[in-house]
Amino acid sequence: MADRDGKIWMDGQMVDWRDAKIHVLTHTLHYGCGVFEGVRAYNTVNGTAIFRLEEHTDRLFNSAKILRMKLPFSKEEVNEAQKAVIRENKLESGYIRPLVWIGDKKLGVSPKGNTIHVMAAAWAWGAYLGEEGMKRGIRVKTSSYTRHHVNITMTQAKAVSNYSNSILANMEATDDGYDEALLLDSAGFVSEGAGENVFVIKNGVIYTPDLSAGALNGITRNTIFHIAKDLGLEIVQKRITRDEVYIADEAFFTGTAAEVTPIRELDRLEVGCGSRGPITEKIQTAFFDIVNGRNPQYAHWLTKV
Ligand code: PMP
Repeated sequence: MADRDGKIWMDGQMVDWRDAKIHVLTHTLHYGCGVFEGVRAYNTVNGTAIFRLEEHTDRLFNSAKILRMKLPFSKEEVNEAQKAVIRENKLESGYIRPLVWIGDKKLGVSPKGNTIHVMAAAWAWGAYLGEEGMKRGIRVKTSSYTRHHVNITMTQAKAVSNYSNSILANMEATDDGYDEALLLDSAGFVSEGAGENVFVIKNGVIYTPDLSAGALNGITRNTIFHIAKDLGLEIVQKRITRDEVYIADEAFFTGTAAEVTPIRELDRLEVGCGSRGPITEKIQTAFFDIVNGRNPQYAHWLTKV
């Protein structure tokens, strides 16, 4: 990805894409203490706009707070940086990646006295789990890896280090021929996907794990809460077992990258009809109406670049 034209916002400056480099002795590269976001801009009916920018930036700052990192920029500056990388790279739509990391001033485990850096990059990115998966649903495997316990890594931080667990789970699942992994918490209850929150539907009611299962407080997850309310559907946060997913009528993943992706199979067992379910389809449609600016009720969630 390093060799391309374009600009990356780095510590307050627009830098040529190829020159946006850091030193090999960067603290975060060694110990994994860093935080990031994944944000999407859509080509809406009113032009290019970033979806729930404020909420993503708030979560970035909260993640940094949890890891005791103080950003040398304000939220307004970080919001402006994200808008600017979309503009500078002439993207009509795309994915934005802000990252906060610890610098290369010293390399002991303690980051005290080191510098904190911020960057934002943006590029075009289509359906994360494939166009086909969006229509037909994806095949998921329960991971042999446990999701982080809430007192091991901090699960409400979108922390760089949390993703080694996601990578292991995703590689195991995809090496075995599945599209994505579903992770259980340390007590054996359903937590989330490697990079997605999970929902199941049974008898018309939507269920999702509560955050004590170690799942990230997803912004798309929150968007689904609003959509469910608008559609008159009940939504319940609770402990969910693996076999509750097997016998659910429908299931789907959510995330900024994954958007709303139906799950058609878990551990080679068909979920419901083994395809995208009717309620999932309704939620998916409502979601794409909102992010593409076709639902004026949520116009305030779209920040024009
Ligand atoms: N869980 C994990 C582990 C994730 O990486 C993501 C993607 N950020 C999510 C859930 C979904 O969060 P969001 O909807 O805010 O993108």
